[in-house]
Amino acid sequence: MASLEKTDRKTIAAASEMKKLLAGHFEALDKAKKEGTPKVAWCTSVGPAELLHAMGFLVYYPENHGALLGATRMATDVIPIANAVGYSPDICSYLTSDVGAYLKGLTPLTKAYGIQSIPKADVLVYNTNQCRDVQDWFAFYAREWKVPLIGIHTHRNIKAVEDYHITDLSEQIQAMVPILEEVSGNRLDMDRFREVLGLSLECTKLWRQVLECGAAKPAPLTFFDATVHMAPAVVLRGLQEAVDYYKLLLPELKERVKNGIAAIDGERHRIYWDGMPIWGKLKDLSTQFLSLKTNIVASTYCNSWIFDAFDPKTPFESMARAYTELFIVRDESYKEAYMDAWIKNFSVDGVIFHDARTCPNNSNSRYGMPQRMNDRLGLPVLVLNGDLNDLRCYSEEQTRTNIEAFIEQLEERR
Ligand code: SF4
Repeated sequence: MASLEKTDRKTIAAASEMKKLLAGHFEALDKAKKEGTPKVAWCTSVGPAELLHAMGFLVYYPENHGALLGATRMATDVIPIANAVGYSPDICSYLTSDVGAYLKGLTPLTKAYGIQSIPKADVLVYNTNQCRDVQDWFAFYAREWKVPLIGIHTHRNIKAVEDYHITDLSEQIQAMVPILEEVSGNRLDMDRFREVLGLSLECTKLWRQVLECGAAKPAPLTFFDATVHMAPAVVLRGLQEAVDYYKLLLPELKERVKNGIAAIDGERHRIYWDGMPIWGKLKDLSTQFLSLKTNIVASTYCNSWIFDAFDPKTPFESMARAYTELFIVRDESYKEAYMDAWIKNFSVDGVIFHDARTCPNNSNSRYGMPQRMNDRLGLPVLVLNGDLNDLRCYSEEQTRTNIEAFIEQLEERR
Protein backbone atom coordinates (compact mmCIF):
# COMPACT_ATOMS: atom_id res chain seq x y z
CA MET A 1 0.00 0.00 0.00
CA ALA A 2 1.19 3.51 -0.78
CA SER A 3 2.60 5.60 2.05
CA LEU A 4 0.00 7.58 4.00
CA GLU A 5 2.41 10.19 5.31
CA LYS A 6 1.10 13.75 5.00
CA THR A 7 2.70 16.13 2.52
CA ASP A 8 1.91 19.71 1.55
CA ARG A 9 0.78 20.95 -1.83
CA LYS A 10 3.08 23.68 -3.09
CA THR A 11 1.76 27.23 -3.35
CA ILE A 12 1.66 28.81 -6.79
CA ALA A 13 2.95 32.38 -6.47
CA ALA A 14 0.68 33.79 -9.20
CA ALA A 15 -2.35 32.98 -7.05
CA SER A 16 -2.09 36.24 -5.14
CA GLU A 17 -2.48 38.19 -8.41
CA MET A 18 -5.51 36.11 -9.30
CA LYS A 19 -7.19 36.93 -6.00
CA LYS A 20 -6.83 40.63 -6.80
CA LEU A 21 -8.25 40.11 -10.28
CA LEU A 22 -11.29 38.26 -8.99
CA ALA A 23 -11.91 40.86 -6.30
CA GLY A 24 -11.82 43.54 -9.02
CA HIS A 25 -14.27 41.53 -11.15
CA PHE A 26 -16.87 41.24 -8.39
CA GLU A 27 -16.39 44.81 -7.16
CA ALA A 28 -16.97 46.15 -10.69
CA LEU A 29 -20.20 44.13 -10.91
CA ASP A 30 -21.33 45.37 -7.51
CA LYS A 31 -20.63 48.98 -8.50
CA ALA A 32 -22.49 48.56 -11.79
CA LYS A 33 -25.46 47.13 -9.94
CA LYS A 34 -25.55 50.11 -7.58
CA GLU A 35 -25.02 52.77 -10.27
CA GLY A 36 -27.09 51.13 -13.01
CA THR A 37 -24.24 51.35 -15.51
CA PRO A 38 -22.69 49.61 -17.32
CA LYS A 39 -25.43 47.04 -17.83
CA VAL A 40 -24.94 43.54 -16.43
CA ALA A 41 -25.45 40.39 -18.50
CA TRP A 42 -25.60 36.99 -16.88
CA CYS A 43 -24.01 34.33 -19.04
CA THR A 44 -23.67 30.56 -18.79
CA SER A 45 -20.10 29.39 -18.34
CA VAL A 46 -19.70 28.27 -21.94
CA GLY A 47 -22.05 30.86 -23.36
CA PRO A 48 -21.49 33.72 -25.81
CA ALA A 49 -19.46 35.93 -23.46
CA GLU A 50 -17.48 37.54 -26.29
CA LEU A 51 -20.59 39.07 -27.85
CA LEU A 52 -21.66 40.44 -24.46
CA HIS A 53 -18.28 42.04 -23.76
CA ALA A 54 -18.21 43.50 -27.25
CA MET A 55 -21.54 45.22 -26.54
CA GLY A 56 -20.28 46.81 -23.34
CA PHE A 57 -21.89 44.55 -20.74
CA LEU A 58 -20.20 43.47 -17.56
CA VAL A 59 -20.55 39.71 -17.56
CA TYR A 60 -21.51 37.66 -14.52
CA TYR A 61 -21.40 33.84 -14.40
CA PRO A 62 -23.85 32.20 -11.99
CA GLU A 63 -22.09 28.82 -12.25
CA ASN A 64 -19.02 30.46 -10.75
CA HIS A 65 -21.26 31.62 -7.91
CA GLY A 66 -22.61 28.06 -7.66
CA ALA A 67 -19.07 26.73 -7.31
CA LEU A 68 -18.36 29.30 -4.58
CA LEU A 69 -21.49 28.16 -2.74
CA GLY A 70 -20.18 24.60 -2.99
CA ALA A 71 -16.60 25.37 -2.01
CA THR A 72 -17.71 27.37 1.04
CA ARG A 73 -20.14 24.55 1.95
CA MET A 74 -23.03 26.99 2.07
CA ALA A 75 -24.76 24.95 -0.65
CA THR A 76 -26.00 22.05 1.42
CA ASP A 77 -27.84 24.41 3.81
CA VAL A 78 -29.57 26.45 1.11
CA ILE A 79 -30.49 23.71 -1.39
CA PRO A 80 -33.57 22.69 0.67
CA ILE A 81 -34.91 26.24 0.32
CA ALA A 82 -35.03 25.82 -3.46
CA ASN A 83 -36.45 22.32 -3.04
CA ALA A 84 -39.26 23.82 -0.95
CA VAL A 85 -40.36 26.06 -3.84
CA GLY A 86 -40.46 23.16 -6.28
CA TYR A 87 -36.93 22.75 -7.60
CA SER A 88 -36.21 19.03 -7.28
CA PRO A 89 -33.22 17.74 -5.27
CA ASP A 90 -32.39 15.68 -8.40
CA ILE A 91 -31.72 18.66 -10.70
CA CYS A 92 -28.49 20.66 -10.94
CA SER A 93 -27.28 21.55 -7.45
CA TYR A 94 -25.65 24.72 -8.78
CA LEU A 95 -29.16 25.81 -9.69
CA THR A 96 -30.74 24.76 -6.41
CA SER A 97 -27.95 26.19 -4.25
CA ASP A 98 -27.94 29.48 -6.18
CA VAL A 99 -31.72 29.89 -6.07
CA GLY A 100 -31.82 28.79 -2.43
CA ALA A 101 -29.11 31.30 -1.49
CA TYR A 102 -30.94 34.07 -3.35
CA LEU A 103 -34.21 33.29 -1.56
CA LYS A 104 -32.42 33.35 1.76
CA GLY A 105 -30.51 36.55 0.91
CA LEU A 106 -27.08 34.94 1.24
CA THR A 107 -23.97 34.94 -0.92
CA PRO A 108 -20.36 33.83 -0.34
CA LEU A 109 -19.35 37.15 -1.93
CA THR A 110 -20.13 38.86 1.39
CA LYS A 111 -17.43 37.05 3.31
CA ALA A 112 -14.96 37.06 0.41
CA TYR A 113 -15.37 40.65 -0.81
CA GLY A 114 -17.80 42.46 1.48
CA ILE A 115 -20.45 42.37 -1.27
CA GLN A 116 -23.98 42.05 0.11
CA SER A 117 -25.82 40.50 -2.83
CA ILE A 118 -25.34 39.11 -6.32
CA PRO A 119 -25.53 41.62 -9.21
CA LYS A 120 -29.04 41.83 -10.64
CA ALA A 121 -29.11 41.03 -14.34
CA ASP A 122 -30.27 43.42 -17.04
CA VAL A 123 -30.38 40.48 -19.44
CA LEU A 124 -29.92 36.70 -19.01
CA VAL A 125 -28.11 34.84 -21.79
CA TYR A 126 -27.77 31.06 -21.84
CA ASN A 127 -26.46 28.36 -24.13
CA THR A 128 -27.92 24.86 -23.76
CA ASN A 129 -24.67 23.33 -25.04
CA GLN A 130 -24.00 22.04 -21.53
CA CYS A 131 -27.53 21.22 -20.31
CA ARG A 132 -31.14 22.36 -20.13
CA ASP A 133 -30.83 23.27 -16.45
CA VAL A 134 -29.17 26.58 -17.27
CA GLN A 135 -32.25 27.71 -19.18
CA ASP A 136 -34.55 26.88 -16.26
CA TRP A 137 -32.10 28.43 -13.81
CA PHE A 138 -32.05 31.74 -15.70
CA ALA A 139 -35.82 31.57 -16.20
CA PHE A 140 -36.22 31.78 -12.41
CA TYR A 141 -34.43 35.15 -12.39
CA ALA A 142 -36.20 36.35 -15.54
CA ARG A 143 -39.52 35.90 -13.73
CA GLU A 144 -38.14 37.38 -10.53
CA TRP A 145 -36.71 40.54 -12.11
CA LYS A 146 -38.81 40.77 -15.28
CA VAL A 147 -35.76 41.07 -17.51
CA PRO A 148 -35.19 39.50 -20.96
CA LEU A 149 -34.14 35.86 -21.16
CA ILE A 150 -32.49 34.87 -24.42
CA GLY A 151 -30.47 31.87 -25.45
CA ILE A 152 -28.88 29.56 -27.94
CA HIS A 153 -30.15 26.00 -28.36
CA THR A 154 -27.22 23.81 -29.27
CA HIS A 155 -27.41 20.40 -30.94
CA ARG A 156 -26.27 17.84 -28.38
CA ASN A 157 -24.73 14.34 -28.34
CA ILE A 158 -23.16 14.94 -31.72
CA LYS A 159 -20.29 12.92 -33.16
CA ALA A 160 -18.90 15.41 -35.67
CA VAL A 161 -19.61 19.14 -35.81
CA GLU A 162 -21.30 19.66 -39.19
CA ASP A 163 -21.66 22.84 -41.23
CA TYR A 164 -25.41 22.92 -40.65
CA HIS A 165 -24.81 23.03 -36.88
CA ILE A 166 -22.59 26.06 -37.31
CA THR A 167 -24.96 27.84 -39.69
CA ASP A 168 -27.85 27.33 -37.30
CA LEU A 169 -25.97 28.40 -34.18
CA SER A 170 -24.34 31.35 -35.86
CA GLU A 171 -27.80 32.57 -36.91
CA GLN A 172 -29.09 32.06 -33.37
CA ILE A 173 -26.22 34.16 -31.98
CA GLN A 174 -26.84 36.90 -34.55
CA ALA A 175 -30.53 36.93 -33.69
CA MET A 176 -29.66 37.98 -30.14
CA VAL A 177 -27.92 41.16 -31.29
CA PRO A 178 -31.00 43.46 -31.61
CA ILE A 179 -32.19 42.51 -28.10
CA LEU A 180 -28.74 43.04 -26.63
CA GLU A 181 -28.47 46.38 -28.45
CA GLU A 182 -31.75 47.50 -26.93
CA VAL A 183 -30.79 46.45 -23.39
CA SER A 184 -27.25 47.84 -23.53
CA GLY A 185 -28.07 50.97 -25.52
CA ASN A 186 -24.98 50.22 -27.66
CA ARG A 187 -24.72 49.17 -31.30
CA LEU A 188 -22.58 46.13 -31.99
CA ASP A 189 -19.15 47.30 -33.13
CA MET A 190 -17.68 44.49 -35.24
CA ASP A 191 -14.11 45.71 -34.73
CA ARG A 192 -14.57 45.55 -30.97
CA PHE A 193 -16.19 42.11 -31.33
CA ARG A 194 -13.15 40.85 -33.27
CA GLU A 195 -10.83 42.35 -30.68
CA VAL A 196 -12.65 40.58 -27.82
CA LEU A 197 -12.58 37.30 -29.71
CA GLY A 198 -8.83 37.73 -30.25
CA LEU A 199 -8.37 38.17 -26.50
CA SER A 200 -10.44 35.06 -25.78
CA LEU A 201 -8.35 33.14 -28.30
CA GLU A 202 -5.14 34.27 -26.65
CA CYS A 203 -6.53 33.38 -23.22
CA THR A 204 -7.59 29.93 -24.35
CA LYS A 205 -4.20 29.17 -25.95
CA LEU A 206 -2.41 30.14 -22.75
CA TRP A 207 -4.85 28.15 -20.59
CA ARG A 208 -4.24 25.09 -22.78
CA GLN A 209 -0.49 25.49 -22.28
CA VAL A 210 -0.98 25.78 -18.52
CA LEU A 211 -2.90 22.50 -18.48
CA GLU A 212 -0.41 20.83 -20.80
CA CYS A 213 2.32 21.48 -18.25
CA GLY A 214 0.65 18.63 -16.34
CA ALA A 215 2.04 16.19 -18.91
CA ALA A 216 5.54 16.67 -17.48
CA LYS A 217 6.86 14.00 -15.13
CA PRO A 218 6.64 14.98 -12.36
CA ALA A 219 3.69 17.27 -12.97
CA PRO A 220 4.09 20.86 -11.72
CA LEU A 221 0.40 21.33 -10.90
CA THR A 222 -2.58 19.29 -9.79
CA PHE A 223 -6.26 19.18 -10.70
CA PHE A 224 -6.85 20.99 -7.41
CA ASP A 225 -4.58 23.83 -8.53
CA ALA A 226 -6.28 23.93 -11.92
CA THR A 227 -9.78 24.24 -10.42
CA VAL A 228 -8.53 27.45 -8.79
CA HIS A 229 -6.43 28.86 -11.61
CA MET A 230 -9.07 28.30 -14.27
CA ALA A 231 -11.11 31.17 -12.80
CA PRO A 232 -9.77 33.87 -15.16
CA ALA A 233 -10.48 31.64 -18.19
CA VAL A 234 -14.04 31.24 -16.94
CA VAL A 235 -14.99 34.72 -15.75
CA LEU A 236 -12.49 37.04 -17.47
CA ARG A 237 -12.02 35.55 -20.93
CA GLY A 238 -12.38 38.18 -23.60
CA LEU A 239 -10.54 40.66 -21.37
CA GLN A 240 -6.88 41.64 -21.35
CA GLU A 241 -6.62 40.77 -17.62
CA ALA A 242 -7.11 37.06 -18.28
CA VAL A 243 -4.36 37.05 -20.92
CA ASP A 244 -2.01 38.93 -18.61
CA TYR A 245 -2.74 36.50 -15.78
CA TYR A 246 -1.83 33.41 -17.77
CA LYS A 247 1.30 35.15 -19.04
CA LEU A 248 2.25 35.36 -15.37
CA LEU A 249 1.24 31.82 -14.38
CA LEU A 250 2.65 29.93 -17.36
CA PRO A 251 6.35 30.86 -16.89
CA GLU A 252 6.09 29.89 -13.22
CA LEU A 253 4.89 26.42 -14.17
CA LYS A 254 7.42 26.09 -17.01
CA GLU A 255 10.15 26.96 -14.53
CA ARG A 256 8.94 24.15 -12.30
CA VAL A 257 9.01 21.73 -15.25
CA LYS A 258 12.51 22.86 -16.21
CA ASN A 259 13.77 22.28 -12.68
CA GLY A 260 11.86 19.04 -12.14
CA ILE A 261 9.80 20.57 -9.33
CA ALA A 262 6.79 18.40 -8.59
CA ALA A 263 3.47 19.67 -7.29
CA ILE A 264 3.52 16.50 -5.20
CA ASP A 265 6.94 15.44 -3.99
CA GLY A 266 7.70 11.82 -4.79
CA GLU A 267 4.86 11.59 -7.34
CA ARG A 268 4.05 7.89 -7.69
CA HIS A 269 0.73 7.72 -9.52
CA ARG A 270 -0.92 9.87 -12.18
CA ILE A 271 -4.68 10.08 -12.47
CA TYR A 272 -7.17 11.44 -15.01
CA TRP A 273 -10.34 12.88 -13.41
CA ASP A 274 -13.57 12.86 -15.37
CA GLY A 275 -16.58 14.80 -14.16
CA MET A 276 -17.32 17.72 -11.90
CA PRO A 277 -15.18 18.67 -8.91
CA ILE A 278 -16.73 17.93 -5.51
CA TRP A 279 -16.44 21.56 -4.48
CA GLY A 280 -17.08 21.15 -0.77
CA LYS A 281 -14.45 18.42 -0.48
CA LEU A 282 -11.61 19.76 -2.62
CA LYS A 283 -9.35 20.39 0.35
CA ASP A 284 -9.95 16.98 1.91
CA LEU A 285 -9.47 15.17 -1.39
CA SER A 286 -6.35 17.18 -2.21
CA THR A 287 -4.89 16.22 1.15
CA GLN A 288 -5.73 12.56 0.66
CA PHE A 289 -4.15 12.40 -2.80
CA LEU A 290 -1.08 14.22 -1.51
CA SER A 291 -0.68 11.69 1.26
CA LEU A 292 -0.93 8.89 -1.31
CA LYS A 293 1.68 10.62 -3.51
CA THR A 294 -0.87 10.63 -6.30
CA ASN A 295 -1.41 13.51 -8.66
CA ILE A 296 -4.55 14.11 -10.69
CA VAL A 297 -2.65 15.46 -13.69
CA ALA A 298 -5.48 16.02 -16.16
CA SER A 299 -9.25 16.39 -16.21
CA THR A 300 -12.12 16.80 -18.56
CA TYR A 301 -13.55 19.56 -16.41
CA CYS A 302 -10.62 21.98 -16.50
CA ASN A 303 -10.26 21.38 -20.24
CA SER A 304 -13.78 22.71 -20.76
CA TRP A 305 -12.45 26.25 -21.15
CA ILE A 306 -10.21 25.43 -24.10
CA PHE A 307 -11.87 26.89 -27.20
CA ASP A 308 -9.51 26.27 -30.08
CA ALA A 309 -11.90 27.44 -32.79
CA PHE A 310 -12.15 31.16 -31.97
CA ASP A 311 -11.20 33.17 -35.04
CA PRO A 312 -11.50 36.98 -35.05
CA LYS A 313 -11.92 36.89 -38.86
CA THR A 314 -15.25 35.04 -38.52
CA PRO A 315 -16.62 36.04 -35.12
CA PHE A 316 -20.14 34.58 -35.27
CA GLU A 317 -19.21 31.36 -37.03
CA SER A 318 -16.10 30.67 -35.00
CA MET A 319 -17.94 31.38 -31.75
CA ALA A 320 -20.66 28.95 -32.82
CA ARG A 321 -17.98 26.35 -33.56
CA ALA A 322 -15.96 26.93 -30.38
CA TYR A 323 -19.02 26.53 -28.17
CA THR A 324 -20.16 23.41 -30.02
CA GLU A 325 -16.87 21.52 -30.30
CA LEU A 326 -16.87 21.10 -26.53
CA PHE A 327 -16.56 17.67 -24.93
CA ILE A 328 -19.90 17.98 -23.12
CA VAL A 329 -21.74 18.48 -26.41
CA ARG A 330 -20.37 15.31 -28.03
CA ASP A 331 -21.36 11.67 -28.23
CA GLU A 332 -19.73 8.77 -26.39
CA SER A 333 -17.39 7.75 -29.23
CA TYR A 334 -15.95 11.28 -29.48
CA LYS A 335 -15.60 11.52 -25.70
CA GLU A 336 -13.76 8.20 -25.50
CA ALA A 337 -11.29 9.15 -28.24
CA TYR A 338 -10.75 12.53 -26.58
CA MET A 339 -10.05 11.02 -23.18
CA ASP A 340 -7.82 8.30 -24.63
CA ALA A 341 -5.58 10.97 -26.18
CA TRP A 342 -5.23 12.96 -22.94
CA ILE A 343 -4.63 9.78 -20.93
CA LYS A 344 -1.86 8.73 -23.30
CA ASN A 345 -0.23 12.17 -23.51
CA PHE A 346 -0.26 12.61 -19.75
CA SER A 347 1.12 9.13 -18.92
CA VAL A 348 -1.91 8.36 -16.78
CA ASP A 349 -1.98 5.23 -14.57
CA GLY A 350 -5.68 5.23 -13.69
CA VAL A 351 -8.95 7.05 -14.27
CA ILE A 352 -11.48 8.33 -11.75
CA PHE A 353 -15.02 9.06 -12.90
CA HIS A 354 -17.05 11.28 -10.62
CA ASP A 355 -20.71 10.37 -10.97
CA ALA A 356 -22.30 13.62 -9.76
CA ARG A 357 -25.83 12.85 -8.68
CA THR A 358 -27.35 16.12 -9.89
CA CYS A 359 -25.33 16.58 -13.09
CA PRO A 360 -25.87 13.75 -15.58
CA ASN A 361 -24.37 16.04 -18.24
CA ASN A 362 -20.92 15.95 -16.68
CA SER A 363 -21.14 12.34 -15.44
CA ASN A 364 -19.79 10.00 -18.07
CA SER A 365 -19.88 6.76 -16.13
CA ARG A 366 -23.56 5.94 -16.71
CA TYR A 367 -23.45 4.24 -20.11
CA GLY A 368 -20.60 1.79 -19.68
CA MET A 369 -17.71 4.13 -20.48
CA PRO A 370 -15.49 3.12 -17.53
CA GLN A 371 -15.82 -0.58 -18.41
CA ARG A 372 -15.07 0.06 -22.08
CA MET A 373 -12.10 2.19 -21.13
CA ASN A 374 -10.79 -0.52 -18.87
CA ASP A 375 -11.15 -3.11 -21.67
CA ARG A 376 -9.60 -0.84 -24.28
CA LEU A 377 -6.69 0.65 -22.36
CA GLY A 378 -6.19 -1.90 -19.62
CA LEU A 379 -6.19 0.91 -17.07
CA PRO A 380 -7.80 0.67 -13.64
CA VAL A 381 -10.91 2.84 -13.34
CA LEU A 382 -12.84 3.97 -10.28
CA VAL A 383 -16.32 5.48 -10.15
CA LEU A 384 -16.93 7.80 -7.19
CA ASN A 385 -20.51 8.64 -6.30
CA GLY A 386 -20.99 12.16 -5.10
CA ASP A 387 -22.10 15.56 -6.25
CA LEU A 388 -20.71 18.92 -7.22
CA ASN A 389 -22.51 20.81 -4.43
CA ASP A 390 -25.01 18.65 -2.57
CA LEU A 391 -22.96 16.88 0.06
CA ARG A 392 -26.01 14.87 1.11
CA CYS A 393 -25.11 12.72 -1.93
CA TYR A 394 -21.55 12.19 -0.75
CA SER A 395 -20.17 9.64 1.70
CA GLU A 396 -16.89 10.74 3.21
CA GLU A 397 -16.01 7.31 4.54
CA GLN A 398 -16.91 5.38 1.42
CA THR A 399 -15.04 7.78 -0.85
CA ARG A 400 -11.91 7.73 1.29
CA THR A 401 -11.91 3.92 1.39
CA ASN A 402 -12.55 3.58 -2.34
CA ILE A 403 -9.70 5.94 -3.20
CA GLU A 404 -7.30 4.13 -0.87
CA ALA A 405 -8.21 0.76 -2.41
CA PHE A 406 -7.81 2.21 -5.91
CA ILE A 407 -4.36 3.60 -5.21
CA GLU A 408 -3.40 0.28 -3.65
CA GLN A 409 -4.39 -1.34 -6.95
CA LEU A 410 -2.17 1.13 -8.83
CA GLU A 411 0.64 0.46 -6.39
CA GLU A 412 0.46 -3.27 -7.09
CA ARG A 413 0.79 -2.63 -10.83
CA ARG A 414 3.99 -0.60 -10.51
S1 SF4 B 1 -23.68 21.14 -16.71
FE1 SF4 B 1 -24.28 20.18 -14.78
S2 SF4 B 1 -23.38 21.45 -13.19
FE2 SF4 B 1 -23.34 22.64 -15.07
S3 SF4 B 1 -25.22 23.85 -15.00
FE3 SF4 B 1 -25.68 22.00 -16.15
S4 SF4 B 1 -26.48 20.49 -14.68
FE4 SF4 B 1 -25.47 22.19 -13.55
